[in-house]
Amino acid sequence: MHWETIHKDTAPVVPPRLTDYDRTRSEFTWSQARAALAGLPDGGLNMAHEAVDRHAASDLADKAALRCVARNDSVSTVTYAELARGTARFANVLRSLGVGHGDRVFTLLGRCPELYTTVLGTLKNTSVLCPLFSAFGPDPVAQRLRLGDAKVLVTTAALYRRKVAERRASVPGLKHVLIVGPGAEDLPGTASFDDLMSAAPDTFTIPPTSPDDMALLHFTSGTTGTPKGAVHVHEAVVAHYVTAAYALDLHPEDVYWCTADPGWVTGMSYGIIAPLVHGVTVIVDEGDYDARRWYRILGEQRVTVWYTAPTALRMLMRATPREGPYDLPRSYDLSALRFIASVGEPLNPEAVVWGRDVLGLPVHDNWWQTETGCIMIANIAACEIRPGSMGRPLPGVEATVLKQGEDGRALVIDGRVTEVQSPDVEGELALRPGWPSMFRGYLHDKERYDAAFAGGWYLTGDLVRRDADGWYWFVGRADDVIKSAGHLIGPFEVESALMEHPSVAEAGAIGRPDPVAGNVVKAFVSLRPGVEPTPELERELLAFGRRKLGPAVAPREIAFDQNLPKTRSGKVMRRLLRARELGLPMGDLSTLEGSA
Ligand code: ATP
Ligand code: MG
Repeated sequence: MHWETIHKDTAPVVPPRLTDYDRTRSEFTWSQARAALAGLPDGGLNMAHEAVDRHAASDLADKAALRCVARNDSVSTVTYAELARGTARFANVLRSLGVGHGDRVFTLLGRCPELYTTVLGTLKNTSVLCPLFSAFGPDPVAQRLRLGDAKVLVTTAALYRRKVAERRASVPGLKHVLIVGPGAEDLPGTASFDDLMSAAPDTFTIPPTSPDDMALLHFTSGTTGTPKGAVHVHEAVVAHYVTAAYALDLHPEDVYWCTADPGWVTGMSYGIIAPLVHGVTVIVDEGDYDARRWYRILGEQRVTVWYTAPTALRMLMRATPREGPYDLPRSYDLSALRFIASVGEPLNPEAVVWGRDVLGLPVHDNWWQTETGCIMIANIAACEIRPGSMGRPLPGVEATVLKQGEDGRALVIDGRVTEVQSPDVEGELALRPGWPSMFRGYLHDKERYDAAFAGGWYLTGDLVRRDADGWYWFVGRADDVIKSAGHLIGPFEVESALMEHPSVAEAGAIGRPDPVAGNVVKAFVSLRPGVEPTPELERELLAFGRRKLGPAVAPREIAFDQNLPKTRSGKVMRRLLRARELGLPMGDLSTLEGSA
């Protein structure tokens, strides 16, 4: 069993696979999970040691850690031993630049091998890594570099010219800009990443690392407001390891592909760290989204576990609808793929049905946040999959549902909250702090951090329903919930119902003020290719909504919009739909897809 081969001198303490949910949950402790990781020889805990060096010193040394598919489809591999040497070089580069413990290293890169070297080399040096979306415009980049106290930035010449050069003076703390690939010589104030790497030694001893040392800084997606900088520590690797075993079922022989951009937390925790800790081969796709390309990579690379997002699945659904024809997916051999996991947004039941019918595969929803640092609630193979549900809390995760106040959020009286216990309940989702990847702060915003806790719980800001059997169902973000004629309506329910109509590709629902009801539901709908937005279709969708949802919840108004505003991580930004509708200020637009 791989647990024994990886941890040669540590007996398997945690059951490595979740086959019996109830038993595993009742027996699980985080300290046992921690003991199952190797740890540094001197007793510390460092993410990069668990992800790379440990394997480089084992039977996995010559195995492909990364398999990179370039834009032109050429494929190259990086073994665990090579990754250990490359990351040692980068740690030495940082040391030679005087960058040390706790200093912030930012990346502004697409998916490329150098990204992995930078991330893991930074962690080896006990510096802090903060990834940025390469699609961010100049202002969001400068804003985050300043807020995150950036000392080093690793990027490319093209990205530097377009997104950093002009604003560089506004980030005085940024001492070093390292340019991957050609072009550094033409850019004053930068140095060549490649030259520094080839001059650096390829061995490095990881300095003492406390599990509480800051490792990663992640900005949230900005779906509901200005992005917050969530602080994570090295101990988080314990949670990455365990949750990737339980929710993603990773084994060393897996070929694993996570499509999340490395600029957000999924791309880091489950795109880089967790899979490498499990010793799998990670697919690194340098290309852009394209249905045919994705099916081809899944087939040709024999991907076994695929972690993606509802927005990506909806794009595949548009290209290959359930009504057929199934020629595109059938022209690739997807037989190696065991299941698809999805995160980031509610997974509409229609997507689960589509996965079953078109690909013959289960689609597992996962719920978590930048703040939680790891998957918290998931559909797992060991339990019944309920389409439209997020699943059940993983072992080690204590979740509850809190009674809501008028504003939809948990009711807090004198610092106390009330858990709702009856069999089928709705309210704000809360989590008992204490899991290893729990965020340790919002950078420079203690007040906001403190406000996220009450009565011994972390309040997630998400509203859920827990059914009588303990499955959690996403209702909406507290900020997005629509209050209409005394009901709280979750936009997800409305959007999922509309998506079952064959003409609808995607939907976003908001509340529009109404003198009688307080608010009525208005839905913005994007249509499948080839479908015309006509008044007849509008009437048909209104009637369809009423039939599915009943008159109290159904949209009163439908607007066609082929470009629903989304974050770069693919989440519908209902706050922008609302702001546009009501003529309100748009607020922070830094994570809006398509913005400069
Ligand atoms: P911000 O906090 O800046 O508004 P954000 O909440 O979108 O942005 P993330 O931390 O990237 O930033 O996303 C976490 C949120 O995404 C969750 O709180 C939840 O609202 C939503 N989410 C994630 N996974 C799921 C899921 N499986 N089902 C429903 N919603 C999900
Ligand atoms: Mg959030």
